[in-house]
Amino acid sequence: MIITTIKELRTYLDTHRQSGKTIGFVPTMGFLHEGHLSLIRRAKAENDIVVMSDFVNPTQFAPNEDFESYPRNIEQDEQLAVGAGADIVFYPSVQEMYPTDSSTFVEVMGDITKVLCGASRPSHFRGVTTVVAMLFNIVQPHRAYFGQKDAQQAAVLIKMVNDLHMNIELIVCPIVREEDGLAMSSRNIYLSADERAQAVVLNQALLKAKAAFENGETDVQKLIGIISGKINEAPLAHIDYVNIYEYPSLKTTEEIGAKALAAVAVKFGKTRLIDNIILKNKCN
Ligand code: AMP
Repeated sequence: MIITTIKELRTYLDTHRQSGKTIGFVPTMGFLHEGHLSLIRRAKAENDIVVMSDFVNPTQFAPNEDFESYPRNIEQDEQLAVGAGADIVFYPSVQEMYPTDSSTFVEVMGDITKVLCGASRPSHFRGVTTVVAMLFNIVQPHRAYFGQKDAQQAAVLIKMVNDLHMNIELIVCPIVREEDGLAMSSRNIYLSADERAQAVVLNQALLKAKAAFENGETDVQKLIGIISGKINEAPLAHIDYVNIYEYPSLKTTEEIGAKALAAVAVKFGKTRLIDNIILKNKCN
C-alpha cells in the first residue's frame, strides 16, 4: 500500500504501535534493485511491520547534480517492495516533506562528514541527516536498515543517532552485487554498455587491495596506489577519490590497525559510482 501523507502514515503506525507491534524502516530514494530488497527482507524478518520510504530527497543533491534526472518508477517500486515484505511504501511529495517555511537542518560535524563523499559533495550529508531525522520522527521505527554500499552514510547516521540519543537501532546490511561484482545502484542504469563493462574495475581494485592487505601490506599510501592503479586500467574511468580511513570513525591513518574502510568514487562520463570494502585485521 502506498501512503503519501505524514498524517495518514502516523495514523496507520499508531494503531500497530499501540498493539505492541515492532516497526522496521528502510529509507530509500526508490528505483529499487536487489540491494534495496535485501534490506526490506531483513527488516521483515526482524519486525512485525515494515515501512519503506521512497523519496528522492532534494536537499542531498547539489544544484549541478542529478536530482531532476534521478530514475523514478513508483509503480514498479511498490510491486517489488511489497513482494519483498514491505507493508507500506511511504511516497511523500517534496512539499509534504519540506513545506515552504521549512528551515531546520540536522548536521553531523567533523571529519566524518568532511572526507570522501563529504569532500566531493559538501552539502550532501547535511541533506541526508536532515531527511533521515525527519523520517525517523515521522515513522518512529524500532529498527532502521541501511546498506554498507553507502558506508560513510551509515557511519554518519550511526553518529547522529548516538549524538541525538535517538532510540532507534541501526542495522547495516552487506553490499549486494551484480554477478560480475559491480555494486548494485539505481545509477547503474545511466551507464553505456562500454562504461558498464568497465565499471567492474571498482570492485576488482578493492579486492586487489584486500588481497594485498591480507598478504601483510598495511601501508595506506601503498594500498591506495594499488587501488588507483587498477582503476586507471579502465580507460573510461575517472577517479573522484580513492582513500582509506579508520572505520567507523573515518579518522586519518597511515597504517591500518584493527579495521579500515577503503572507499572509491569513480566517474564514468556523468555517472558517479561509489564502492568500498572493509579491511579487517584477523588478529583483532
Ligand atoms: P538509495 O536508494 O540509493 O538511497 O539507497 C537506499 C538504501 O539502500 C541505502 O541504505 C543504501 O545503502 C542501500 N543500498 C543501495 N545499494 C545497495 C547495495 N548494492 N547493497 C546493499 N544496500 C544497498
